[in-house]
Amino acid sequence: MVRTRFAPSPTGYLHIGGARTALYCWLYARKMKGTFILRIEDTDLERSTQESVQAILDGMAWLNLDYEEGPFYQTKRFDRYHEVIQQMLAEGKAYKCYCSKERLEALREAQMARKEKPRYDGFCRDRSEPGEGSFCVRFKNPTTGAVEFDDLVRGKLTFANAELDDLIIARSDGTPTYNFTVVVDDLDMNITHVIRGDDHINNTPRQINILRALSATPPLYAHVPMILGSDGKRLSKRHGAVGVMQYREDGFLPEALLNYLARLGWSHGDQEIFSIDELIHYFDINDINRAPAAFNPEKLLWLNQHYIKTSDPAHVAKEFAWHMEKQGVDTNNGPALIDVIRAQCERTKTLREMAERSRYFYEDVVMSEEMKSHFPAELMPALTLVRDGLATLPDWTKESIHGVLQRVADAQGLKLGKLAPAVRVAMTGGTVSPPIDVTILLIGRERAITRLNKVIF
Ligand code: GLU
Repeated sequence: MVRTRFAPSPTGYLHIGGARTALYCWLYARKMKGTFILRIEDTDLERSTQESVQAILDGMAWLNLDYEEGPFYQTKRFDRYHEVIQQMLAEGKAYKCYCSKERLEALREAQMARKEKPRYDGFCRDRSEPGEGSFCVRFKNPTTGAVEFDDLVRGKLTFANAELDDLIIARSDGTPTYNFTVVVDDLDMNITHVIRGDDHINNTPRQINILRALSATPPLYAHVPMILGSDGKRLSKRHGAVGVMQYREDGFLPEALLNYLARLGWSHGDQEIFSIDELIHYFDINDINRAPAAFNPEKLLWLNQHYIKTSDPAHVAKEFAWHMEKQGVDTNNGPALIDVIRAQCERTKTLREMAERSRYFYEDVVMSEEMKSHFPAELMPALTLVRDGLATLPDWTKESIHGVLQRVADAQGLKLGKLAPAVRVAMTGGTVSPPIDVTILLIGRERAITRLNKVIF
């Protein structure tokens, strides 16, 4: 039974790289009908914040990455970590190190001067008498041989034990360290596949050694290459990379972001668009790319537009309602959101843009001075006829509204292309909107007449 986990440290937003890792863990669990676990690695008390925990939970919820188990918090598991540390000390798999800061610093300087890699020299490893004063606990890493594992993305990797230090597993204040808590959790939570960023690749041999010392079979590992910015450097805030929830604010649909993230570092032939079910069906760890992928905001926008255009408007409406509310628009008084979405979906790349351009369906328009030039005196007879035509229409449909405009244009010897722009400005306060008949239809008869009255003189 496959069990994967997403294990973020709550020290910032849920960023793009983290969301992609979460997605891969989730997809693999779903594909294998396994279990997906969320674990918050919050042992770094100085850097972890409640806001970041919330940002992670919100991001996961918005992306619909649901988990069967968790969220587990490492800070709630200190008793368990201490128990394992005591056990390892008792079994001689770990030892107390009393070396002072000064000694370690001097050691380090001497090694650097000899151009050696700084590492702990094992001074306390075999001491028979306990030392004095405060101590940390170090793992007794094997000194010979090598750790070898088959990374599901990278292939076979080998690390010589001589290169690995006797890692500190508990600091002098007793708190457990990162590599140790991950091991205890992966073991206790029966994780079968660790899918994570390749910045952790050097931790893996250390974690495998600790797992073996605990007589556990290590899980399988898949290290996912990092995401690059357009300049080839690791993606960061400098590239405008932001937290997942900012993508919501910017008007992306979660499925567009998921589709984008899935393809960013994984492929199935040259297919670009995948429904969630297709992703679950086709996703395989073995198809994760070995080379880092570059973040491409244009492609994300393109996918977003695709999903806005092709998704069920009722589904888009849930997200669109959030944007309208966020922009302070009361949508109870006006057309149904799905009708607005149907009218606008061809011409907007983001839902935020759609919301900004849909206010006039629900609110009075404010006409700028500049727009008033669209209503010259010679158009007044035509605009008056449009108003009266709309007022007396027996039915209120796109076709009947179009009929009014066409008849007035014909009667006045005007091109529809001359009349429609003026009507559009009267209706919306601007020059961009869906086709004029649909726009008037959705604005509604009463409002349409009021708006024409405002420009007729
Ligand atoms: N907490 C680690 C991080 O946020 C991830 C650890 C792991 O996946 O093993 O980078």
